Amino acid sequence: MDETDRPRLHPATIAAHAGGATDLATAGVVPAVHVATTFGRDEEYRKMQGDNMYLRYHNENTRIAEQVLSKLEGARETLLFPSGMAATAALFRALETGTRVLVQSQIYWGTTQWIRKFCERRGIGLEEVEASDPAALEAACKEHRPALVWVETPSNPWLRITDVARAAEICHGVGALLVVDSTAASPVLSQPLSLGADIVMHSATKGINGHSDVLAGALSTNDPQDQIWQEIVEDRGSAGAVLGPFEAWLLTRGMRTLPLRIREMSRNAQALAEFLADHPQVEQVFYPGLPDHPGHEVAARQMAEGFGCLLSLVVRGGVEAALNVAGRLQLFHRATSLGGVESLVEHRHTIEPHTGIPEGLLRLSVGIEDAGDLIADLGQALGQ
Ligand code: PLP
Repeated sequence: MDETDRPRLHPATIAAHAGGATDLATAGVVPAVHVATTFGRDEEYRKMQGDNMYLRYHNENTRIAEQVLSKLEGARETLLFPSGMAATAALFRALETGTRVLVQSQIYWGTTQWIRKFCERRGIGLEEVEASDPAALEAACKEHRPALVWVETPSNPWLRITDVARAAEICHGVGALLVVDSTAASPVLSQPLSLGADIVMHSATKGINGHSDVLAGALSTNDPQDQIWQEIVEDRGSAGAVLGPFEAWLLTRGMRTLPLRIREMSRNAQALAEFLADHPQVEQVFYPGLPDHPGHEVAARQMAEGFGCLLSLVVRGGVEAALNVAGRLQLFHRATSLGGVESLVEHRHTIEPHTGIPEGLLRLSVGIEDAGDLIADLGQALGQ
C-alpha cells in the first residue's frame, strides 16, 4: 500500500513504529546506527546514495529522527541540532543585522541570556514583552514592527500560556514570523504549526528524548522554501551544527514511547498540582491544568491530552524553607532539566537570582513514577 493511501495514523502509532524506519540491510525492525563520516562516489564521480557526501551536511540516523519528529509535529520539514540552544542560535544567526525581534519576557533563562548577548553583538534590535498577554503583544508588535517574535508556551518556570493562534494573527498582521518554543508541551500535547506558528523549536533533550541521556534541539516548519529556513539549512551544514548519528538513533528510540510518557507525566503532574494547591505549606502553584490558572482556558483549547510535566510551586517561608523541602525530597532528583522519566526538583532562584523568580519557588519536572509515591514524598518533605 502506498503511504498516501493509508489512513492518517495517530501519534502513538507513528511513534511506536518510528515512522516506519527499519534497517533495510537486515530487515531489522529498528534502524541501524550509521557512523560513516564520508560517503563514496561511483566511477562517473556521482554520489552513490541520495545526497550522502559528508556527515556534517546530514546523516541517515538524523534523517530518520527528523522524519519521525516531522510526522508528530505535523511539519513538512524538521532540522535536528546538537542542543536546543544550537537550534535557537541557528535561527537567530539567519537574521539580518539591523532587524528587530520581540521576545517573550520571563522564559527559559538560558534563551533570554543568549538572545540578549547575541542581539547586542550583532546589532539586532531586541524588545521583551509578556506575550501571554495578547494586548501587550499586539501593542509591542505595532510599536516595534519586528521581523520575528519568539514565544515559549508553557513558559519555564512560570507556566504562562500564550494563545498561539491569536499570537500568529497578531504577528502576521505586522509581517512578523512567529516562532514557538514548545519544549514544555512536546508535539504530543500541542502542534503550534497547525495553530499558525511559522517555526517550532524544541529542546529535544527534554520530553522528546525523555531519558535524560541525549542533548538535542529541533526546528520544524511547514514552509521549507521560505528564505529564513533555506538559510538555516545552509548554515547548519556549513557551520557544522548537525546532530550526530548516535544521538539521533537514541532520540528515535526515545520517541517510540513519547505519547505514552507524556500522557503519564501529564496525569501525574495534574495529580501533584491538585495535591499541592490544597497544601497549607504551599503559597502558590503554577500549573495550567488547574482551573484557576490564568491560562487554563487557552491551554485546554491548544493542548490535547494533558498539560505537561512541568509545574512550579512557591513554598511558604522563602529561600530557606524551599531549600529544606528540596533537601528532604527522596524521590525527586535535585537537578536541572525536565521531561525525563524520573522526577526532578530545582530551586530556580539559586540559578537565576536577579530575575524576579520568587525565592521560595521550586520547579518540578514530574516523571512516570507512581503518582501516589510522589505525593507521599512531597507530603513528607513539606512536613505534612
Ligand atoms: N527551551 C526550554 C524551554 C528549555 O527548558 C531549555 C533547556 O532547559 C532550552 C530551550 C535549551 O535546550 P538545551 O538545553 O537542549 O540546549
